[in-house]
Amino acid sequence: QPVVAVVGRPNVGKSTLVNRIIGRRQAVVEDVPGVTRDRIPYDAQWSGRAFTVVDTGGWEPDAKDRAAAIAAQAEAAVATADVVLFVVDATVGSTDVDEAAVKMLRRSAKPVILVANKADNTNVELEATSLWSLGLGEPHPVSALHGRGSGDLLDAILNALPEAPKVVEYRPRGPRRVALVGRPNVGKSSLLNRFSGEERAVVDSVAGTTVDPVDSLASIGGETWHLVDTAGLRKRVGKASGTEYYASLRTASAIEAAEVAVVLLDSSEPISEQDQRILSMVTEAGRALVIAFNKWDLVDADRRYYLDKEIERELRRIPWAIRLNLSAKTGRAVDKLAAALHRALDSWETRIPTAQLNAWLTALVQATPHPVRGGRAPRILFATQAGVAPPRFVLFTTGPLDAGYQRFVERKLREEFGFEGSPIEISVRPRK
Ligand code: GDP
Repeated sequence: QPVVAVVGRPNVGKSTLVNRIIGRRQAVVEDVPGVTRDRIPYDAQWSGRAFTVVDTGGWEPDAKDRAAAIAAQAEAAVATADVVLFVVDATVGSTDVDEAAVKMLRRSAKPVILVANKADNTNVELEATSLWSLGLGEPHPVSALHGRGSGDLLDAILNALPEAPKVVEYRPRGPRRVALVGRPNVGKSSLLNRFSGEERAVVDSVAGTTVDPVDSLASIGGETWHLVDTAGLRKRVGKASGTEYYASLRTASAIEAAEVAVVLLDSSEPISEQDQRILSMVTEAGRALVIAFNKWDLVDADRRYYLDKEIERELRRIPWAIRLNLSAKTGRAVDKLAAALHRALDSWETRIPTAQLNAWLTALVQATPHPVRGGRAPRILFATQAGVAPPRFVLFTTGPLDAGYQRFVERKLREEFGFEGSPIEISVRPRK
């Protein structure tokens, strides 16, 4: 999600403008010179385009102490922004401080939109034309308080934003797509036979549904699911259905085509390298994951003891996977599969509101800051969720993070928000 930073000296009406942009009426926090305010990101939307607005404290050059900290914060916000709104008080005109800010903005080389705020009437609007002298192009006269000119300003913001990302918001259509995968003989076809097949015609009539001839529709938990690439499963064409290489290609493409994968393991045997490879395929493809420990009817106390140890050792990378102990043979826990799939898919599609994400993050980095390396510690400035399916997060920082600290953030993120059954991605964008 693109980021718009709002910068300007104290009292030009930045907070009012932010409230106007996010279209929410809340207690307007006015700039108090010298009082530090956190840079709080807000979600905004205009003409179907979503972006994040970051409010900054009043910028003053060469300020001392707390005011200097605010200026530094504003500069950091500019560094991580895609577009900067530079707010000037049109009733005052440009001041020395504004001109110093322009120099700072030039250095940043970011696209800047000049906002002439407090243009409550045509007189002030006319005066605003004098702001051309700042050399930032056309001034946009706006009355943040009354809304005058705000639509035009929002259009200008949209024009300045980078191209919309290719990834559109995830919108599932038709039955959810499931891949039933696992090495040979773990019980895939046996499990499949537990689900009643459905007439394809029923679902082909659902708009937007395409069911490949190799796929099938099945009723799991009273609901229709789209099982990806089950051709080789239902009609057993003998065990020798191609080389292992071919089988693994087929597994990979089924996972790719699915939203959630059920990886079957044979609980009566040790977790093998091949099992691990299939699990990695799922996490690397970014699909939701349910691990089904099949043949649970064969697990006695002895086997259970070793299996628990294997799980601890072999699945330590994916403690978040949903696990289900079932038996395709006896039917044990097969009725729990639908709920497990839904839980995994819900996590996979979770979006954390930006404000909530950053409130949590601020508390986290305050309690446990990044360790100091060579006299310096990178800081996380703020975070946004860049996408869902699976959830992807971007951390805006002052520098690269230690791998260990990044893992810590991921672990804490999961502790707070769950994401049970779904991989999540975290990338770091250090400011340049
Ligand atoms: P696939 O190659 O993964 O499709 O595995 P199959 O479904 O063909 O099963 C392989 C063998 O395991 C068959 O002999 C099945 O009867 C047996 N099997 C499958 N599920 C279970 C189970 O839950 N318990 C037991 N005891 N055997 C099972």
